[in-house]
Amino acid sequence: MSDRIEELAAALARFPGIGPRQAKRFVYYLLTVSGHDRAKLANLISTLGEQVSQCAECFRYAEVQGGLCNYCADKSRDDSLLMVVEKDQDLLAVERAGTYRGRYFVLGGVLTLSGKGAIRERELIKMTEKRLSRGLSEIVLALSATSEGEHTADRVKELLTPYRDRVKLSLLGRGLATGSELEYADSATLSSALQNRKET
Ligand SMILES: [Zn+2]
Repeated sequence: MSDRIEELAAALARFPGIGPRQAKRFVYYLLTVSGHDRAKLANLISTLGEQVSQCAECFRYAEVQGGLCNYCADKSRDDSLLMVVEKDQDLLAVERAGTYRGRYFVLGGVLTLSGKGAIRERELIKMTEKRLSRGLSEIVLALSATSEGEHTADRVKELLTPYRDRVKLSLLGRGLATGSELEYADSATLSSALQNRKET
């Protein structure tokens, strides 16, 4: 029989950013809480996929209705703007900043300089075409100010080359310090980076 502590620690260590030692700390923490709290957590995990799925337009994970998340379904948002972000957490950071009212597209990753990583290329092209028919006029590349972010922005620009005559491409202004990840940028910085975006 395998050791339950080891088994759970190994499962938690597969989480992004969590090493084996942190995973062990989580397991020992879980041993100190009540059985009720553990059951609640286990239930949240096991039913996560029932309430949350991927939005058909922006591809973020959310409680979707009719295939769309609340931002994509919201008719009052600006269809002329589409913001391209790396991951769900970046989109939420932009929403927290509260100044952007356009649409979103989540790439689902970044491309590394060594050629690793994958982004939703076909889906981006499909959504660009769909949004062009709804009045899209500008795509904002809101990627992290890291080498991977810049490399990914280059690839996205390449992918969107056929649409350049119909849509403006812009990059966030560099209020974001070099090396900083969008997810951790504060609201004021994000708002000013958005306001000072530059056509590329
Ligand atoms: Zn959506």
